[in-house]
This record gives sequence, structure tokens and C-alpha cells, in this order.
Amino acid sequence: MAQSEKEAALAAVPVDGDAPTIFDKIIKKEIPSTIVYEDDKVLAFRDISPQGPTHILVIPKVKDGLTGLSKAEERHVEILGRLLYVAKLVAKQEKLDDGYRVVINDGKNGCQSVYHIHVHVIGGRQMNWPPG
Ligand code: 5GP
Repeated sequence: MAQSEKEAALAAVPVDGDAPTIFDKIIKKEIPSTIVYEDDKVLAFRDISPQGPTHILVIPKVKDGLTGLSKAEERHVEILGRLLYVAKLVAKQEKLDDGYRVVINDGKNGCQSVYHIHVHVIGGRQMNWPPG
């Protein structure tokens, strides 16, 4: 992850519950994004600061308190599964046939900067392990 993104994550003020984030504006199409998948529950769009040739964010259209994975409750099980399934659909659509990485950053130590849960799908290059 680029240092500037780490700084953005450290500077981010975690929002509680359903307080809006930049992703609400993307969902409402008030700011532009390159949408690659959309259904009634999920939106997937290209990350503005891609960490690989392909970098897509998969988000729920309704946050329902799910600011991050650490806030997950039993009622979120269905949408959490749907986010991962859409991650797979998008990876296939993007022809990431040699593999890809799926990431959910959580909280300060996880380098989360936007407090609306999102799944990163990153591919098109060889990944490394351990992550930075
Ligand atoms: P996080 O660090 O919270 O896991 O990931 C947030 C991601 O949102 C970052 O990768 C960042 O580049 C992306 N992002 C932040 N603002 C925007 C935006 O306005 N448009 C798009 N497409 N991506 C954004």
C-alpha cells in the first residue's frame, strides 16, 4: 500500500452506524466512478488509486451499520456472502484467471480509510506475501 493511503487510513475518523461516507455519493452517482457491476444490493467500481492493473471495490448499497467487518452482526451474513460472491463474479468478468487477491481492511491497524465496508479485488500482477 502506498504511504499516502496509510496516512489516509491513519487520518480517517471512524464513523459509526450509518453516517455517510464518500461511497454514499458514489452509490447515488453524485460523484463519478467507473462501475463494473451493479445489482439491487451491491455496487462494484474501480478504485481511484489502483494497487494493481485491476483494482475494484465491492460495496453494499445499504450500509446498515456495517462500517467495517468488525461491526458485523448476524443480520449481515447474507450481504457479506453476497459481497464475496460478487467479488468472484467481477474477477471472472475482469479475466483474472491466474488469480487475484481479495482484501477487507478493518480499522486503523488494518489501514481502513473509508468506513463503509468494502471488498478490494486486486489482480493483474503477481501478489506478494506477507502483505505490507
Ligand atoms: P480502505 O483503505 O478503506 O480499505 O479502502 C478505501 C479505498 O477507497 C482506497 O483504496 C481508495 O483509493 C478508494 N477511494 C477513496 N475515495 C474514492 C473515490 O472517491 N472513488 C473511488 N473510485 N475510490 C475511492
